[in-house]
Amino acid sequence: MFIDVHCHLDRYKENLGYALEQIKQHRIFTISNSMDLPSYKQNVQIAVSSDFILPVFGIHPWNASQYVGCPKDLDWAISESPIIGEIGLDYYFVNETSLYDDQREVFEYFLKAAGRQKKIVMVHTKGAESETFQLLKQYNTERVIIHWYSGPWHILKAMVEHGFYFTIGVEVLFSQHIQDIARYLPAELILSETDNPGGKQSITGTVGTPLLIKDVVGKLAEIRGTSDQIITTTVQNNLIRVGGRDSWLTKVRTSSG
Ligand SMILES: [Zn+2]
Repeated sequence: MFIDVHCHLDRYKENLGYALEQIKQHRIFTISNSMDLPSYKQNVQIAVSSDFILPVFGIHPWNASQYVGCPKDLDWAISESPIIGEIGLDYYFVNETSLYDDQREVFEYFLKAAGRQKKIVMVHTKGAESETFQLLKQYNTERVIIHWYSGPWHILKAMVEHGFYFTIGVEVLFSQHIQDIARYLPAELILSETDNPGGKQSITGTVGTPLLIKDVVGKLAEIRGTSDQIITTTVQNNLIRVGGRDSWLTKVRTSSG
């Protein structure tokens, strides 16, 4: 079974039917991340039709400003969500430094809640790798999945020492830096993702589909000198390990059976 730990099914829009068909046909266990409250509600609706889909809630750093001052409105969704994602900081695509305080405020609110509820967090770090890492340490966040890491080596190495997990996605097909990261990571910390439909679109201009996860797995196998099957099994075992005793893992077990 393939594992796509980070995508955004609500963003497939008119291509959703096709995406869901691929997920079912190719048995892709899919964690559908949210970027705000409306996208979370859509992801929950989408997941009703499939055992392969786990909808999770977070506020993307690009949307943080909308929720500053009313974080309590998020509490019901945070409590309901089995994993927290997508949250984090972005100082790369967001140029207006006046928005960074909002990003930090919302990110910290989620880190506090995740700590209390002992949940995995799925973290966006683009251009803010150092500050994101500082906050994760400050809040003693225990189970961390770093999504699409593309930052400096020294922070990557320190995060690895902290036992954070890392997703490798479609950029591994195109970028030497991501390929180097994919080669460096310890096997027990690697997860796979697509970040679709936007992940591929941001690189090539064409919309990605769920089955791109197969290409990601193939490339990981090539880079690490192993087989697709071993990568698939490794990723599945890693997801089960980071999941610990979480009840959503029954969905992974049902899907893989
Ligand atoms: Zn994302």
